[in-house]
Amino acid sequence: IFLTFEGPDGSGKTTQLRRLADSLSKLGYDIVVTREPGGTSVSDKIRSLILDPEHTEMKDQTEVLLYAASRAQHVRELIIPALEANRIVLCDRFVDASIAYQAHGLGLDVEQVAAINTFATGGLKPTRTYLLDVPVETSLQRLYSRAQAIGGEALDRIELKGETYHSRVRDGFMTLLEENPDRIRLINANRSEDEIAADILRDCNELLDR
Ligand code: ATP
Ligand code: C5P
Ligand code: MG
Repeated sequence: IFLTFEGPDGSGKTTQLRRLADSLSKLGYDIVVTREPGGTSVSDKIRSLILDPEHTEMKDQTEVLLYAASRAQHVRELIIPALEANRIVLCDRFVDASIAYQAHGLGLDVEQVAAINTFATGGLKPTRTYLLDVPVETSLQRLYSRAQAIGGEALDRIELKGETYHSRVRDGFMTLLEENPDRIRLINANRSEDEIAADILRDCNELLDR
C-alpha cells in the first residue's frame, strides 16, 4: 500500500504523515516514511539544487525535469522495493505536487508534465492520497511562523514565489481532486491536528481492512 500526502506549503502534510506513521506502527504495521523531492542520496542532492534560493536563474523546464529525475531514482531505489516487501509506504508529496506546482503553478502544459512523470515513475500510482487543504493565507502564515520558530534560513526558492503562484497551485490540487475522486481524499486541514489525524486514520483503517 502506497499512501501519499499532498497539499499546499504549510498545510500540515509532514505533521500528519508522522502522526499516521506512529499510529500504524503502534498497530504493528511495517512502515516506510519518505518524502519528495528526496528519499534517496541522489534524490536529496537534486532536492538541494532545486530548492537553493540562490538559483533564481533556474528555468521552469529545468525545474520540472529535476523533480522528475529525483522521483525516478526514489521510485526505483526505495518505493518499489518497499512495496514488493509488503511494507506500507508513506510519502510526503509525489506526482500530484508536480502537476499542481510545476504545471498549474508555473503555467506549463499539464499533459507534458504528466508524460514526463509517467516516464519517471514507470506509471506507479498511490493507492490513496490525502489532500490537505487550507486557504492560501493560512498556508503562508504557517510557513512564516514555522520559519521564525526554527530561526534558520527563512523560506526556500519555491516558498518565496508569492501568493498568486500559491493560489494557482491550490487550484491545481482541486482540479486533480475532481479528476481522481477514487484515489484522492480531500481533508479540511484548517482544523486541529487531532481532528485531522483522526479523519486520516479512519480512512486508512478502512483501506487496510479491505
Ligand atoms: P511544507 O509544505 O512546507 O513541507 P507541511 O505541509 O509539511 O509544510 P507542516 O510542516 O506539517 O506542513 O506544518 C506547517 C506548520 O504549521 C508547522 O509549524 C506546524 O506545527 C503547523 N501546523 C501543522 N498542522 C497544524 C494545524 N492543524 N493547525 C495549526 N498549525 C498547524
Ligand atoms: O514539502 P517540502 O517542504 O519538503 O517541499 C519542499 C519545497 O518544494 C516546497 O517549497 C514545495 O512547495 C516545493 N515543491 C514544488 N514542487 C514539487 C514538490 C515540492 O515546488 N513537485
Ligand atoms: Mg513538510
